[in-house]
Amino acid sequence: MNQSTGQTINQTEDQTTHHQINEIKNTSKWNNWSGYQHSQPEHILKPQNIEQVQQIVQQHAKIRVVGAGHSFTPLVSTDATLLSLDHIAGFVDSDQQRSQASIWAGTRLFHLDQYLQPINQALIQQGDIDQQSLAGAVSTGTHGTGIDLHCISAYVEAFELLTASGEILRCNEYENKDIFDAGRVSLGSLGVLTKITMQNKPRYKLKEHVELVAVSDLVTNIEQWKKQHRHIECFAFSHAEKLMLKTLDITEEPIQPRKQSWPSEDMLLTMCCELTRAFPTLNPHLQKLLGVFVKPTTFVDWSSQIFPTPRNTKFNEMEYQIPAEHGIACLQEVLAALKKSQYPTFFPVEFRFVKGDDIWLSPFYQRDSVSISIHQFHKQEPRLLFDLVEPILQKFQGRPHWGKMHTMNSSQLSALYPKWMDFMQIRQQLDPAGKFLNPYLELLFDQ
Ligand SMILES: Cc1cc2nc3c(=O)[nH]c(=O)nc-3n(C[C@H](O)[C@H](O)[C@H](O)COP(=O)(O)OP(=O)(O)OC[C@H]3O[C@@H](n4cnc5c(N)ncnc54)[C@H](O)[C@@H]3O)c2cc1C
Repeated sequence: MNQSTGQTINQTEDQTTHHQINEIKNTSKWNNWSGYQHSQPEHILKPQNIEQVQQIVQQHAKIRVVGAGHSFTPLVSTDATLLSLDHIAGFVDSDQQRSQASIWAGTRLFHLDQYLQPINQALIQQGDIDQQSLAGAVSTGTHGTGIDLHCISAYVEAFELLTASGEILRCNEYENKDIFDAGRVSLGSLGVLTKITMQNKPRYKLKEHVELVAVSDLVTNIEQWKKQHRHIECFAFSHAEKLMLKTLDITEEPIQPRKQSWPSEDMLLTMCCELTRAFPTLNPHLQKLLGVFVKPTTFVDWSSQIFPTPRNTKFNEMEYQIPAEHGIACLQEVLAALKKSQYPTFFPVEFRFVKGDDIWLSPFYQRDSVSISIHQFHKQEPRLLFDLVEPILQKFQGRPHWGKMHTMNSSQLSALYPKWMDFMQIRQQLDPAGKFLNPYLELLFDQ
């Protein structure tokens, strides 16, 4: 088990060196963070340098690249070759004037600060956790929250892509512009991202504030609140009158680090999920106890410390990006459906804001959005819950998060993405034999 990521890529076998490439024998299984997706690749390869990555791409007919295995969809499941860039990690170089840094694609987000801090840089935006690889986060349009902030892929200034032919293409606004626009969110389907240049900003501190507010206050005040705070996020429980409101703002205040509480938020969450699973009728009562557990808190720290939250209670997740103007109506309908169904899920519905961008397969393509996420405890089957909510998210023209569970097919997706066919054309040109597709992507892309 790789403790840092939660994905399991080697259950029983030893690692051996095969032409100096770390190979995990073909009896090994791979599963994602939640354990819902699993497969048995013929090879799991961990090259040590770019030449070895090129050699693998030339020698293997079917390849999926894996980052930290934190996607909930079977994006990387394969019975052929699974390629991990865990060793293609670290700092490459920086442009101090522009606040940009080039990073090897396999670098985990939680390692970034050790490279960025000495050069006074920090990521402009991050999501809820920092366990992902940079390439994995970029490839699915991973995002945080804030009306003026894009998903992480939109802060990519340039990348290098190793294509099926073994060629390394440099892509940015000026070189291979179409591949740049297609490749920033491309689900590992165009080739292997090897190096990524990020637009960063000088290091900054964030002040995190969490409090409970009435659901009715959110509806009345959200238009004002979303402009007041750099980041704003809500966790709404379908049976509770109050929701958790979390805001983050840039500050010069002294550091006030996050304190370890006992029992921790995670311990309480696991306990409530286990209770809900065992005694479903308890769920509304547990959710109504929110006010007892959640006290207002304020922390100040460097951005890389404030963005990620420990997520030790495992879950599966579905998430759609809704046009921002429909966000509150959609949230209200989702909460009402959950309450009416009495479906036993303790997890709250997460509500965030993301600014639109120009990346062809970004769920935020030319659309300021609200992100609505539904979670289910990993020991409970998620499909029934997701089937209940998904039609509501789709009714509001939602586009699914590529890394989170959904049932959309190619014809539904092509209607939501104006550049869908352009993307497929570039994909065909770069990878005519479908080296970088697995059965899931073949179906999703209808290729
Ligand atoms: C606990 C938890 C919290 C999360 N929080 C958030 C959040 O706050 N916001 C959000 O938007 N998402 C969130 N996610 C989803 C997560 O950010 C995405 O699924 C992300 O893609 C995972 O990154 P990874 O490194 O694990 O990539 P993987 O899941 O391993 O791979 C994702 C995709 O990237 C491709 N890929 C990986 N490396 C390369 C490469 N070098 N070249 C080409 N393609 C590559 C893979 O082929 C695959 O298609 C969360 C997930 C979990 C489990």
